[in-house]
Amino acid sequence: MPDTSEFDSPLFRTTLHQLDTVASRLNLDPNLHERLRYPRRALVVSVPIQMDNGKTEIFIGYSVHHNTALGPTKGGLRYHSDVNLGEVTALAMLMSWKCGLFQLPYGGAKGGIRCNPRSMSSREIERMTRRYTSEIILLIGPDLDIPAPDLGTDEQVMAWVMDTYSMTQGKSVPGVVTGKPILIGGSAGRREATGRGIVYTLFRAARHLGHEVKGKRVVVQGFGNVGAVAARLLWREGCTIVGISDVKGGVYSPRGLDLRQLEAHAAESGSVSGFPDADRVTNAELLELPCDILIPAAIGSQIREDNASRIKASIIAEGANGPTTPEADQILRERGVTVVPDILANGGGVVVSYFEWVQGLQFYFWRESEILSRLQEVMTRAFNRIWAVAQKEGTDLRTAALMEGIRRVAEGFRIRGLYP
Ligand code: GLU
Repeated sequence: MPDTSEFDSPLFRTTLHQLDTVASRLNLDPNLHERLRYPRRALVVSVPIQMDNGKTEIFIGYSVHHNTALGPTKGGLRYHSDVNLGEVTALAMLMSWKCGLFQLPYGGAKGGIRCNPRSMSSREIERMTRRYTSEIILLIGPDLDIPAPDLGTDEQVMAWVMDTYSMTQGKSVPGVVTGKPILIGGSAGRREATGRGIVYTLFRAARHLGHEVKGKRVVVQGFGNVGAVAARLLWREGCTIVGISDVKGGVYSPRGLDLRQLEAHAAESGSVSGFPDADRVTNAELLELPCDILIPAAIGSQIREDNASRIKASIIAEGANGPTTPEADQILRERGVTVVPDILANGGGVVVSYFEWVQGLQFYFWRESEILSRLQEVMTRAFNRIWAVAQKEGTDLRTAALMEGIRRVAEGFRIRGLYP
């Protein structure tokens, strides 16, 4: 196999390993397999910004399109200090499989800037977003690549991307991003979609395993757009949220946390840590707390060889992308832990992004109840398909999900043929 060293990173190695393993399981044509191992295109840009103190700082940004076999590319824009070419490429590849398994008419992409948005002012983030958008402008568009929020970005960042792109076109082009504010063409239900999708998949998993979700003890790592929404919805469904964390640390209460009070505390103090009537735990300790369901919804590589055997949960639903290393995956599999993999569990975000894009193209917006029932239907069907593949092939859910996603993208390549 030729060299992929430009893209080398721990996550890229993991995604390549997953692709290679699944390709041999699927008996994939080696010519198609080979093409799937590389991104179609990758752009590296420098993003010079005038900081509030008058100094110029340069940030490095990336835009990677993994493949376009099934349509324009789709994926999040990430602002984080771990962003690099290999990581963004791996995340773009995961988006290809995710869109494939949900049967969306998209290829996978990812964008990112290596930065620490927590240490930047809102004006600095705006300037960085606008300059980055203008640097990658040839690679984005409503029928080319459509970014969405990811770690470190939100609706406001999407509005700045959309505005910058629109200014270069001389007209408003809302379809260039999804996950934008509702007032400028966003969709009802998009903000909560990823967290909600996790809850839907948990209900499916529990049903297939013969459990109830109600009454289960849940631990959530991450209190951002994914973790906080999943925790709140599960709490409302009658689960006991025993532990939760954010970047500053976590809190644990075996009796259960009052999510409404916790949200108020976090809104006021900027963190869940320090919440009264709960024990303080680190992010590492949090993962090993006694519970039934664990939702890693923060960053990648949290469940590793060194802690996987101490995890108590019997179901893990991956809110983050790539939170489990392959070594840990193997340990969890041997211990009989059910892992609902990232590309299945967190797919609610891109599914409602698709709804937002479709609504925008039609200039016709659906009611929230309609969005929720369609999301539930798409998630349920995808889950049932993957579950059936896992049963038939005698594999875990991650392998089954990858098989579904990769098979579809490869089939797209095969039908379209090779240009020229
Ligand atoms: N960033 C999200 C993901 O990793 C959403 C992508 C999208 O909506 O396009 O799936």
